[in-house]
Amino acid sequence: MMQYEVTKEKSAEHLRQAIHHMSMQDAAFHPVSYAVWYEYSSGEHARLIDEVNALIEKEKKLNEKSTAHVFNKHIAGIDTDHAKKLVERFSQVVTEMRSSTEKTGLQTSEYTKTLDAWSNEIQQQEPQLALQLDSLLSETLMMTNSLNHLQGKLSSSLEEVDALKNEMIKARQEALQDGLTGLMNRKSFDVALHDCLQQHIVDTSLIIADIDYFKKVNDSYGHLFGDKVIQAVASIFKTVAGNSYTAARYGCEEFVLLLPNTQLETAREIAEQIRHKVAAINIKNTITQHMISNITISLGVAAYQPGEQPEGLFSRADQALYTAKANGRNRVTLSSEALVAA
Ligand code: GH3
Ligand code: MG
Ligand code: MG
Repeated sequence: MMQYEVTKEKSAEHLRQAIHHMSMQDAAFHPVSYAVWYEYSSGEHARLIDEVNALIEKEKKLNEKSTAHVFNKHIAGIDTDHAKKLVERFSQVVTEMRSSTEKTGLQTSEYTKTLDAWSNEIQQQEPQLALQLDSLLSETLMMTNSLNHLQGKLSSSLEEVDALKNEMIKARQEALQDGLTGLMNRKSFDVALHDCLQQHIVDTSLIIADIDYFKKVNDSYGHLFGDKVIQAVASIFKTVAGNSYTAARYGCEEFVLLLPNTQLETAREIAEQIRHKVAAINIKNTITQHMISNITISLGVAAYQPGEQPEGLFSRADQALYTAKANGRNRVTLSSEALVAA
């Protein structure tokens, strides 16, 4: 096991060296290159140092591939905990670095200006001394350049990380959301239901709902109008769900609501609320300018029975919905009132 009980000053020095090394490579400034060069600078990892030195001799600069290779071979594989810690610390370091390079950048440019002024003065008075100063000046310029370069690398890799993170969040959302309504889709609801039942939350109830004669809505007013109806119903489910329940669009014009800590009787009342809100929907048909207000929904409600599989709960709520449809639609039926399947 490696020991990493280095003092604060020592690790700051390693960090400074690591950043210096990193700024001279082709690989971007990211957790992997940071880890490699931090290890290199700490001087404790002989085989890593040997390999990096050999690579530099061969390739002059380390590119992404060689950097990743060194990381995988010498850091990630040996001590995953340590590698993880290094990677975690990276964002902290980047933030600190960003402000410190900004500051140093300013300081060096001030320094350059001062030296420049001196050098002009001395050039005229003592040409011999001016020669020495010139080399000092060019070193300072190089330092400024490398800092600027590093700063550029730093912000572009930060932007990349940000963009990547946003893309990941978006892709994740799209995979779990229904595009038309913004509600959860069937896939993520199934996961939520499974999780909820696994947590043994008492009195979990489930509502399954389906818009009545929706085919007729589509046929009479068009598919786009049908979409508007679906969105209006979805927003009712969203409102009713709030932060307490989980709503999803489960199929075409089918919606589900998962109610943890809710007994069957309360779930029935909530289903009734939804039914009333849907019956109150008014949507203008933009072609005929008529208000359409005869949208209704049927709902089935079931309460979780201990030991039951998610599919069992689902199928009892679905049976109740089927009964609501069979009994005339625009109504709420409990699983206990459901007709026995023929
Ligand atoms: P019931 O009262 O028995 O539920 O009758 P229904 O007409 O609602 O039932 P059915 O399942 O036969 O009809 C559902 C229709 O929903 C069929 C399909 O054309 C329509 N549909 C499915 N997805 C969408 C969608 O995303 N947008 C629109 N506008 N219509 C959809
Ligand atoms: Mg329907
Ligand atoms: Mg349907």
